[in-house]
Amino acid sequence: MTTIPPSRHLIVTIDGPAGTGKSSVARAAASRLHLEFLDTGSMYRAATALALDRGIPVRDEHAVAASAADAHLRFDWTTDPPTMLAHGRSIAHRLRAPDVDASVSVVASLPAVREVLVGLQQAIGRSHARLITEGRDQGSVVFPEADAKIYLHASPAARARRRADQLRAQGRHADEAEIARELAERDDRDSRRAVGPLRRPEGAVDLDTSDLTFEESVDAVIEIARRAAEQALPFASAAGNTG
Ligand code: C5P
Repeated sequence: MTTIPPSRHLIVTIDGPAGTGKSSVARAAASRLHLEFLDTGSMYRAATALALDRGIPVRDEHAVAASAADAHLRFDWTTDPPTMLAHGRSIAHRLRAPDVDASVSVVASLPAVREVLVGLQQAIGRSHARLITEGRDQGSVVFPEADAKIYLHASPAARARRRADQLRAQGRHADEAEIARELAERDDRDSRRAVGPLRRPEGAVDLDTSDLTFEESVDAVIEIARRAAEQALPFASAAGNTG
């Protein structure tokens, strides 16, 4: 029995480096537990795509942040996974494009952009209080009071192999050595930034998926979430606490 009583308020954060399969694992676990799923990387990707498509230099902090704020970024929660909307329209087709991949960690290092997106994520947490959320700073900055925090990682070789398999499955070219280099660069930038750096949040359960299958990783997340749900507050008292 993997469901969590509908009266339970539950926020589970999953943070970790690129290419660990975090999104797919989080999404599958959320679906099996009847929780909602928030992919915060897609918000940084949307902010990046908007800047690139408007010719805004990706290091122009205030212009990039203003363009993200003006776009009224939100999700259509009726689809699975939720669709990222900008200016009321889907921007999903741009999120995984190579130009966005190449610039997203630069955009994510801009404090003004993080301020906009962290605010949106916290608002989502208030209106979608049964949530598995994944990113880099979810347990450390966005939801420090989460019911469960997971730090999900895998060896660089395992991550490059998974990303390559994913690309090949989409019929795209994949060079594992090149992918490993790109992932390492992105992790390095994500770990060194001053605001919201990638790190293991305090109190997070460490989940190394290098030697786990996808299903085993999902099961591990489900187990952690279920244990947390046994201790989480029901909605009524949670609402009282958060005002
Ligand atoms: O998870 P994904 O690979 O889609 O994230 C893309 C990029 O967005 C990351 O490399 C990171 O720079 C940024 N990001 C972030 N904080 C988050 C989620 C993603 O800085 N919470």
